[in-house]
Amino acid sequence: MTKTTASARRLPPQLRPDQPPPNVVDYDQSCTGFSWDQARGALEGLPDGRGLNIGHEAVDRHAAGALGSQTAIRHLARDGEVRDVTYRELAAATSQFAQVLERLGVAQGSGVATYLGRVPELYTAALGTLKHGSVFCPLFSAFGPEPVAQRLGLGAISVLVTTPSLYRRRISPQRADLRDLDHVLLVGEPDALAPLLGPGVWDLRALLAEAPSTWEIPPTRPEDPALLHFTSGTTGAPKGAIHVHEAVVAHHHTGRVALDLHPGDVFWCTADPGWVTGTSYGIIAPLVHGVTLICDEGELDAERWYGILERERVAVWYTAPTALRMLQRAGTSLAQAHDLPHLRFAASVGEPLDPESVLWSQEAFGQPVHDNWWQTETGGIMIANLRALEVRPGSMGRPLPGITAAILARGASGAVELDQHGDAVPAGPGTVGELALRPGWPSMFRGYLGEEERYRRCFQGGWYLTGDLARQDADGWFWFVGRGDDVIKSAGHLIGPFEVESTLLEHPSVAEAAVIGIPDAVAGQLVRALVVVGPEHEASPELARELVGFARARLGAAVAPRSVGFVDALPKNRSGKVVRRVLLARELGLPEGDTSTLEEGA
Ligand code: ATP
Ligand code: MG
Repeated sequence: MTKTTASARRLPPQLRPDQPPPNVVDYDQSCTGFSWDQARGALEGLPDGRGLNIGHEAVDRHAAGALGSQTAIRHLARDGEVRDVTYRELAAATSQFAQVLERLGVAQGSGVATYLGRVPELYTAALGTLKHGSVFCPLFSAFGPEPVAQRLGLGAISVLVTTPSLYRRRISPQRADLRDLDHVLLVGEPDALAPLLGPGVWDLRALLAEAPSTWEIPPTRPEDPALLHFTSGTTGAPKGAIHVHEAVVAHHHTGRVALDLHPGDVFWCTADPGWVTGTSYGIIAPLVHGVTLICDEGELDAERWYGILERERVAVWYTAPTALRMLQRAGTSLAQAHDLPHLRFAASVGEPLDPESVLWSQEAFGQPVHDNWWQTETGGIMIANLRALEVRPGSMGRPLPGITAAILARGASGAVELDQHGDAVPAGPGTVGELALRPGWPSMFRGYLGEEERYRRCFQGGWYLTGDLARQDADGWFWFVGRGDDVIKSAGHLIGPFEVESTLLEHPSVAEAAVIGIPDAVAGQLVRALVVVGPEHEASPELARELVGFARARLGAAVAPRSVGFVDALPKNRSGKVVRRVLLARELGLPEGDTSTLEEGA
C-alpha cells in the first residue's frame, strides 16, 4: 500500500442536492449575525417562566409535541437486541427516575453518578437527574476501584447508579470510606442484585416500576449546576469541571452549526457518556434537536461499526481519531464494501486528526471526516470544520459563530504575555501561541471542583487560556500544534508533536506514532518518536533509520525525530488519547504518575 502526501491539500465542500442544505451556508454572515440571546430563543424554557432545564429541552418539550412518538434513542445491545425508546417513553422513564430520587429524599442539587455501560438506564438516570434538578456525573464503567472512589469522593456524590457486579467488586469493599454516598441504585437481574440489597442499596428497576411517570420539573435557574465532568487526565490527575443548565444553549447551537443536525436525522456519537463528548453530544445535543440517537453498547469493531452505519442509515456520525485509525488499519476495502448513501456528515474530536486520516476517509467514505476542537472545560464544540466550508486536512477548522478564539503570544517562561494595560498580546498570523477563547459562551465551565485558584489562573488578560498551543493561518483556519505540556523545545526550536506524528503517519509502515522530548544537556530536548508498525510490517533498526530519513526529508533536521523506537501499543487513556507523559516516563525509567484513566494494559 502506498500513502499519499497529505500536506497542503484542500477538499471542497461536498453538498449533494438530495440532502438537506447545510445549517450554515455563509460562514462570515453567520458569525456577524449571531447573538447568544438569539440562540437562547431557539429553546423553550420551563413552563410559566420557571427557568431553563436541560431535561426539559432534551426530552419533555418533544414528548408533549409532534415528536412524541418518534424514536428518541435506539439502543443496540451487545448481543444484537434492538430497543427503541420514543420521546414520550423517555419522558415517562426520566420522570420516574426523578420521582425515585424525590422519594429517597435526595435534595435538589445533589450529585448523582452513573457507573454503567451504555445501557438504557444510563440515559434514564442522566436525564432524570437533570429533571430532578440534581447534578449528573458520568463515570466510565471500565474505571477500577481507585479512580471511581477518587471521583465519588471529590464530587461528594450522594447517589450512585451501577450494576451488581461493579458494586460488589469495586464499590462495596470501600463503601465505608464514601461518606457522602447515601444511596446505591443497582441495575441488573433480580438474582444478581438480591443478595446485595440492604440499607442504602436498592433495586432501581423495582423503584422505577413503582414510581409515578409524571414529574413537574422544579424551578431551575440557568446558572444552577447541572453536570460534573472529570477531564481525561491526559496531562495529570483529572479535574472536575462544573457546568450549568444554561450550557444547553451551546449544546443546541453547536449541534446545529458544527454537526449540522437536522430534525429527524439518525445520529451516532461513538463516545462513551463517561466523557464529556458522550454526554454533550452522545445525549444532550441530539435530543435537544429531536433526532434519533443511536446508542451502541458494544466496543469498537470495524465490521460492527460499518454494519451500524449502514443498517441504521446514520446521517451524522461523530467519532474520534483513534477509532478512525483503527478502521483504517482494518482496510479501505472493508469500508468500501458498505453502502453509506445516508451518511451526510462525519466529524471527529478528542485528538488532532492527521491529514492522512482525512484523506483516507475521503477515499473510504467518499467524503472527509471533519475535525473539530473543544475540551471538557468548554462544554461544547468551539472550533470546527463546517459542512459548507472547504476542509484543510490537518486543520481543526474555524471558530463557531458566537465563539471568539485567538492565538496569544507566550513569553520565555511559557506564560502568555500581557501588555501594560493587562491585556493579552496576540501572537500574529502563522505564529504558534496559546489557544484562547473570549469567556462568555453558555457552556463554559463555572469551576474546577475544589480548585478555585486553578480555575482563576485559567483566565488572564480577558481570555480563557486553553493550555493548548496552536496557530492561525492568514485565512483564519486554526491548526493544532500540541498541548502546552507536550510541546518540545529543541535547540531553540518549538516543535509540536502533531506535525511530526502526522508526517510519520504518511509512511506506509506506520500505524500509530507519538513524539516526545527527551531531556538533553545541550539541546534542551531531543525529539524521539515511538511508532507502532502496521500489519505486514516489521520493526527493525533499518526501518527506524528509514523513518528518521523520511521525516528529515519532509520536516528538516531541526524538527524531525533524532531517534525512532518501536512499541506494541501506545499508552492511551480510556477516552482514546495518547498519554505522552507516560511514554516519556517509560523511556526515562521514571514513575508514571497518575494512571487512573489509562486503558488496561496500556
Ligand atoms: P486533562 O485536562 O486531564 O489533561 P484532557 O485535556 O485530555 O485531560 P479533555 O478535556 O477530554 O481532557 O480533552 C480536551 C483536550 O483534547 C484538548 O485540550 C486538546 O488538547 C485535545 N483535543 C480535543 N480535540 C482536539 C482536536 N480536534 N485536535 C487536537 N486536539 C484536540
Ligand atoms: Mg485538558
